[in-house]
Amino acid sequence: MSKSGKCLCGDVNFTYESDPGMFLLCHCTDCQRSTGSPLASIIIVPENEFTINGSTGSYECEAKVTRSFCKNCGSQIFSKIARAPGIVAIKTGVLDQQPKIKPSLACWTKSKPKWLEIKHPENAFEENPS
Ligand SMILES: [Zn+2]
Ligand SMILES: [Zn+2]
Repeated sequence: MSKSGKCLCGDVNFTYESDPGMFLLCHCTDCQRSTGSPLASIIIVPENEFTINGSTGSYECEAKVTRSFCKNCGSQIFSKIARAPGIVAIKTGVLDQQPKIKPSLACWTKSKPKWLEIKHPENAFEENPS
């Protein structure tokens, strides 16, 4: 499986080395606003195995999550989370190939839109996992 991805315009690309340790779905309102979508679909990889090329901008929200995006086309690529150092959260929509694993965690299900019918993994939390 190719462990790489790119933004919509192609100015930014990245690679990672190991298979993702986790695949999660986040319905928090910050993820909804920043992605423009009802949920963020995210894989977690070690930061030291993540290589990014190209010009990215970033925005740190109140929850101390810094979301990085292509400066040219605005595609969201990855996030760093202050309370989870050493990892990078990559949006699965920018991957060249979808991960083989399925989501194992869903969070902030309390802000999932009612019209969205989705089969969550067993580990589903109304807010952040405790
Ligand atoms: Zn781009
Ligand atoms: Zn979120």
